Amino acid sequence: MDIERLRFLNSFQVIEIAKKFGTPVFVYSQKEIEKRCEEALAFPNEFGLKVHYAMKANSNYNVLKIIKNKGIGVDASSEYELNRAYLAGFLPNQIMVTSQELVKNLDDFINRGGCFNACSLHQLEIFGQNFPGKELSIRINPGLGSGWTTKTDVGGTTSAFGIWYESLQDAKQIINKYNLKISKVHTHIGSGSDPEVWKAVAKYTLEYAEMFPNCTAVNLGGGFKIGRMSYELSTNLQEIGKPVKELFKEFYSKHNRKLKLEIEPGTYLMANTGALITTVDDIVDTGSKGFEFIKLNTGMDANTRPSLYGAEHPLISVSASNEDKINLKDYVVVGHCCESGDVFTQEMGGKAKTRKMGEVEIGDYVVMEGTGAYCSSMSTKNYNSFPETPEVLMDNNGNVHQIRKKQSLEQIIQNEVKLDFL
Ligand SMILES: *Cc1c(COP(=O)(O)O)cnc(C)c1O
Repeated sequence: MDIERLRFLNSFQVIEIAKKFGTPVFVYSQKEIEKRCEEALAFPNEFGLKVHYAMKANSNYNVLKIIKNKGIGVDASSEYELNRAYLAGFLPNQIMVTSQELVKNLDDFINRGGCFNACSLHQLEIFGQNFPGKELSIRINPGLGSGWTTKTDVGGTTSAFGIWYESLQDAKQIINKYNLKISKVHTHIGSGSDPEVWKAVAKYTLEYAEMFPNCTAVNLGGGFKIGRMSYELSTNLQEIGKPVKELFKEFYSKHNRKLKLEIEPGTYLMANTGALITTVDDIVDTGSKGFEFIKLNTGMDANTRPSLYGAEHPLISVSASNEDKINLKDYVVVGHCCESGDVFTQEMGGKAKTRKMGEVEIGDYVVMEGTGAYCSSMSTKNYNSFPETPEVLMDNNGNVHQIRKKQSLEQIIQNEVKLDFL
């Protein structure tokens, strides 16, 4: 396995940022985010394209702003995300709501042109009761999925996301009862992005579009895999989009309907546009038959993907004195939480494994790459009462700005209520 390298930072910048803002700190690159946005906006399409950013990947206000300024909308996965999208300046007609939990108080959103995506028969029924005669989208589970791990696979019988394709007749009854107009059909099957599975799902999704005469757009979700480790492949959007574009052409020649394409990347826009700078807090070992462990001053409270999925992130040693490290060593890299699962180098299932990296001393830095998506937003924040990790943004001139401060102890406990009889 190759030794991993820094992506958008150099070791000098790592040291500068660490000194100025402290560690751990997430660093995002405006330039990289914008580049990814441009790639997404170039997705092959025949009759128009709309890109929505799945904001759960990273919901920082400034990240949303950069993406919004590129002309991309958002997919909000909860009432709270919807409100954060508003705060970042998105208008209802730039937002799609695809939520597992029923979102209430949608009157304003729907009346101002927002798109609600019904993810179950119950959600469809409630929408019908509240908004008879209105337009909406439905999310369909097409019966197959694609995930890097079973935990990121969100299609097929083991997935609760969307209306099961065999229940579409039941959906139609609800649609007719309330005179609803299905203007969009939606599938999102996970983050494996196997091109063959993707094409098959696109084909099914177009068949669903055929069933709904008011349907003008097809949303194929996100799930475009990004290689975080250098040995992992990334999706080529041009390649997976080409056959899908052909399907839209065929659909037009058969049905004389020009369908718009929508995609919802999360990972693709953000995964490799962020890095987490950490400091080596301790080095311990378990003897000649054991391992050498590096303990970082961060953990699953900043990035829970390794413990959740056995996901791997590049770990790059940077000497605090900016010397070139020539010696390579095999380390097990662990986090600072008092939790046996807080290991950054582990197999799926939790078995620790080693990673070859530049040798480090206590006080050196380790940069964890590939941490722009589903890290800050999905961590086990405040476990062991560690504060929320601060975030900075490197702008297009190379200047670095704080975009989220480190949490204080007062903020961690601010909602606790002290009982006076104790
Ligand atoms: C999470 C999510 C996405 C984005 O998935 P990625 O794997 O990050 O691209 C897109 N659409 C919906 C409905 C989602 O829930």
